[in-house]
Amino acid sequence: MNINTQQQLLIDPIIHEHPLRFHEEATEKLKFCSACRLELRGASYICTKCPDRYTQNYDRYVQYHLDPERKFYLHEKCAKLPYEIQHPSHSSHPLNLYTKYPYKGFKICDECGDIPRGFIYLCEECNFMLDVKCAAQTAQENGVSSMQHKGIESSRHHFGHEHDLLIGHCSDPINQVGCNICELPISGQAHFCPGSSCHYIVHESCLRLPEKMQVPFHAGHMMVMRSKDSQKYPNYFFRMSPPRCYACHGFFSSIVGYECEECPLYFLHSTCANSLRRPLMKLESHEHNLYYLGTDCQLLSANYNFPFNCSKCRKNCRGQPFYRCMECNDINFHLECVPLLHIVKSRHHIHPLTLKDSFIEDDSGEYYCDICEEERFAKDHVYYCEECKGLFLAHIECALAKVEYVVSYLDGQEREESRIESEPSSSDNEYDSSVNSESSYDDDEQSVQDKEEEDSSAQES
Ligand SMILES: [Zn+2]
Ligand SMILES: [Zn+2]
Ligand SMILES: [Zn+2]
Ligand SMILES: [Zn+2]
Ligand SMILES: [Zn+2]
Ligand SMILES: [Zn+2]
Ligand SMILES: [Zn+2]
Ligand SMILES: [Zn+2]
Repeated sequence: MNINTQQQLLIDPIIHEHPLRFHEEATEKLKFCSACRLELRGASYICTKCPDRYTQNYDRYVQYHLDPERKFYLHEKCAKLPYEIQHPSHSSHPLNLYTKYPYKGFKICDECGDIPRGFIYLCEECNFMLDVKCAAQTAQENGVSSMQHKGIESSRHHFGHEHDLLIGHCSDPINQVGCNICELPISGQAHFCPGSSCHYIVHESCLRLPEKMQVPFHAGHMMVMRSKDSQKYPNYFFRMSPPRCYACHGFFSSIVGYECEECPLYFLHSTCANSLRRPLMKLESHEHNLYYLGTDCQLLSANYNFPFNCSKCRKNCRGQPFYRCMECNDINFHLECVPLLHIVKSRHHIHPLTLKDSFIEDDSGEYYCDICEEERFAKDHVYYCEECKGLFLAHIECALAKVEYVVSYLDGQEREESRIESEPSSSDNEYDSSVNSESSYDDDEQSVQDKEEEDSSAQES
């Protein structure tokens, strides 16, 4: 192969500050074009000097996810994009190429509604913008939908922000923008402020967070959502001595979070407060209730590497969801060290439920527990009904609040389901109490009649 063609340089100071090298062969590694943000296979132009611009000064939590070797890549055709185009979606003026939206704040592509993280074409006069993938399409391909995305109003207003918000989509596979409430990367629907002096974008689910909430491990006191620049805490306070989240021990650099109304400096990240709303009750493994600390909460404390060692197996719990005691100083359990039930018959559902590490029903971004009907995080563990093919899903804590019998434990202990099913119904109560003493999940002391009533109503539903 000729070295000259392999190292052919494309000097292009407008698109990129360094010379780009032509790269002929395809690589196995998944790459995305920095201009159109679509997958890149085969020949490309590559900058060997710098990683993608987002890597350098982007939010540290997002960096946690990033491949440090990520480079600036362009499709061959994207390296040769014209600097000015005429587009049928905006025939009155020419559109100019920019490597990113040149003004402050967020703007969606007027065609597809995405918030672009790659190159764009912009009419400065009308503030009409297309991302590169939409600019490449013809009028017929995109003409019909174009009216639908001209600033869909989200009709949402957040008490933490003074302006009305619009809906956009974050579809970039890697360069995700961080939410102003929870700090975590946004993928999917987002609500953003179109104001040019604001840099405000939030998850749909974060908009629904209440202004005040109670968490069971800080009973009796109300947690209130505070913003970094609320009058009580001027900016310098956070810069001088950032407080820590009581749950995950991560620094509290967030703009928004919960603080106890009565205890000064008792802070919780909004994500931590929200996911710790349900206790796992009365376990044999520990005298206090335990709380599920998901991977999102751990991301928030990634900057401060607090060791969460398992109280049973002594290994680190980080990197996977685990249960933590909020009363003791450092009591944590892997899910299989609790041990959680792998398959369980809950009184809340007619079929046995199986523990899954996550379940995403659709792309709505909104998921609920079929027992308490409160929100469920797509990334968190869930009890799933195999028989109903996922039409019944429940929080771990909700399903385990009323255990009828145990089929198997996560640590490998098995029970024979057939033996349990053959138990005569008259001995239900007796059987319950024997399960009770072993698993301690069932604190329910219903009479046999009550239980039979509930069973028959469960059958009907
Ligand atoms: Zn491209
Ligand atoms: Zn677009
Ligand atoms: Zn605003
Ligand atoms: Zn958020
Ligand atoms: Zn936290
Ligand atoms: Zn363990
Ligand atoms: Zn404890
Ligand atoms: Zn629930």
